[in-house]
Amino acid sequence: MELSEQVQEELARRRVEVIIERNPRCKMTQEGVDMIRKAFEIANNAHRGVKRKSGELYIFHPVAVASIVADEIGLGATSVTAALLHDVVEDTELSVADVAHLFNPKVASIVDGLTKLESVFDQSASLQVENFRKLLMSMIEDVRVILIKLADRLHNMRTLDSMPEHKRYRISAETLYIYAPIAHRLGLYAIKTELEDLSLKNEHPQVYATLQNKLEIYAQDYNKVIASVTGDIKKQLDAQGFEYTIKSRSKSIYSIWHKMQTKGVPFEEIYDLIAMRIVFRPKDDIPEKTQCWAIYSIITDLYRPKPDRLRDWVSTPKANGYEALHTTIMSPKGRWVEIQIRSERMDEIAERGFAAHWKYKDDGKEHEIDNWLNSIRKTLENATSDSIEFLDAFKLNLFSSEIMIFTPKGEMKVMPVGSTALDFAFEIHTNLGYHSIGAKVNYKLEPLSYELKSGDQVEIITSEKQHPKYEWINFVTTAKAKACIKDIFKDERKELIAAGESRLESELAKRKLSINARILKKLLRNYHINTKDELYFQIGKDNIDLEDLEKALTQKSTNRWIKIWHLNFGSNKNDDDADDYQDADVDPKQLIKSKNVVLSDDSSNRRYEIAQCCNPIPGDDVVAYIDDENHIILHSRRCANAIKLMSSRGNRIISAQWESHKVLSYLVIIEISGIDRQGIVSDITKIISLELNVNMRSVHFESHDGVFSGNIYLYIYSAIDLQKLMKAISKVKGVDKVTRKDRNNLENSVITTSL
Ligand code: MN
Repeated sequence: MELSEQVQEELARRRVEVIIERNPRCKMTQEGVDMIRKAFEIANNAHRGVKRKSGELYIFHPVAVASIVADEIGLGATSVTAALLHDVVEDTELSVADVAHLFNPKVASIVDGLTKLESVFDQSASLQVENFRKLLMSMIEDVRVILIKLADRLHNMRTLDSMPEHKRYRISAETLYIYAPIAHRLGLYAIKTELEDLSLKNEHPQVYATLQNKLEIYAQDYNKVIASVTGDIKKQLDAQGFEYTIKSRSKSIYSIWHKMQTKGVPFEEIYDLIAMRIVFRPKDDIPEKTQCWAIYSIITDLYRPKPDRLRDWVSTPKANGYEALHTTIMSPKGRWVEIQIRSERMDEIAERGFAAHWKYKDDGKEHEIDNWLNSIRKTLENATSDSIEFLDAFKLNLFSSEIMIFTPKGEMKVMPVGSTALDFAFEIHTNLGYHSIGAKVNYKLEPLSYELKSGDQVEIITSEKQHPKYEWINFVTTAKAKACIKDIFKDERKELIAAGESRLESELAKRKLSINARILKKLLRNYHINTKDELYFQIGKDNIDLEDLEKALTQKSTNRWIKIWHLNFGSNKNDDDADDYQDADVDPKQLIKSKNVVLSDDSSNRRYEIAQCCNPIPGDDVVAYIDDENHIILHSRRCANAIKLMSSRGNRIISAQWESHKVLSYLVIIEISGIDRQGIVSDITKIISLELNVNMRSVHFESHDGVFSGNIYLYIYSAIDLQKLMKAISKVKGVDKVTRKDRNNLENSVITTSL
């Protein structure tokens, strides 16, 4: 039976009363209660007559969001008010100014923030990033905006069933992409888990159902194990006067699925499917930490713990604020059981995260979450116009787990996995970063690029003479270190970007082209670069040689047609003067008989040279000059020297034309390593560019501690050419190893930033 709209409205109104009744933070002041009631009436009027896809009145949505905000996140009257109003500016006649006037500026600014976020993500990556950036901006302005946004998303996910399929997929994907990680980072464990599970359920309903079923069957059996362990532990805890509750908690369907995907293990091999959780009410006058360890010791008196599974997040909380003591013990039934020990406070932080954090914030300590917000603020302030790069910088901080690193004095810093010694230097102090030359990791000397492991003690070695190097950017991973390095090179980088851009512009102009989105896209793909600015920068720095611009512009897929150049020598203009050569070892006529002098011949017995004065390249109009030692020297026809030679020694000039034909080529990578010395990279690339059957796509070299290594991406059309080339490179002074990398590896190694 469908309820009349009037009855539905009354139902919604009562739900608001329930929110107020149930939540002490809403009831704190009469003013707050009145504000919530007023917000409901205004929202109800504004949305009147509008229905959701499910058929129920729209007002149920803001009311549901308000209820999540209050019940599940634990926010107060201002947030509940803003939640009730969160869609009015977007969907109705009411403006932000109206809200400010009717309520207060705080409520209005939260509603404003939510409205700005409302523009749903578009398909294009940059827009998504823009939204992500907006999300973060609003978060540092007032964290409540993002908390309410999460509640909004959660309710939309809960009611996704009434949406058409394609929308369900899109919304689910977006939820996994952005909202769940943010919920995680803010420590909203319950919301994060539900968002993930709902996404999986919508994207892969079959997978979800299967896993859910398997977990149920597993739980029936495993819960007997837990019950017996619980019984034993209870006796001891009671005897020692603890007040506590014991629950069992199963891993979420999504995290089971995720683990199966990422670790490639079957369901049966996931050992921590169900854990036991002891939540205790702390006794007065004893630190919570001490009590955690007391419970730990009760448990380990009863059972044998697995030492490598002890996790102490009581002494060092996770960056999202999580605190608990985890241990895994062997039960009498021969099964491992994970036990998590938390105080009530820790439990609330674990479930509600940031919001709960606020509640306990008065302890005067600086919290990790504040540090994190500060680092977001800093990155936003330093953000380049480049949104992909920006997202990159964030990805790590949002998604990674953490390692603990110690200073020489034993002070601990929490860093993302993958942090290097240089990251650590910047983490401690910007100046320390700028002047660092190396690090002692556990008393052993290591380079700045050394990747740290949890528990490492790190002493940064500095020198006043040290100056930061832009190349550092390649081995730092934290947003902070990246921002610091970019910061100091900002001006230089700007200049190089401008120079690179104008060089590209003029190169394109020669081909009657100009910079446009299509061309940029091709170039970015071709040079394996993510952003426009980075491309200009690399051009400006001479890391990208625009000589192969043509190829970059026409290149389509990994295997492609490339031009192979041949040089055809014609007869010299004046056959009658051939006598001039009689004293020469080689008769030029003999020489030129061999048409199609393929320039890709082994470079060691190359039969021509490129003139230094004009450096002609394949495709240029050229002439050949035969010098006194009978070397053929190739000049550009416009070259001043060539013109001089043509007019003065015309008899030694022979014509030459480049001819090309197309050959299907294949992308290969060769890896080169060796001892660094000045000019080695240019020596190597010179050899490659002389090898005309080979087209270079991109080059990447890194050097540290006197050792260099690099990858060169090449198009090649026969294995013989490749072998020749590798042989030639291995002869370069300093080169130690030249190896071919499998193409599959390449595909893996170039996958970059997709989340
Ligand atoms: Mn909404």
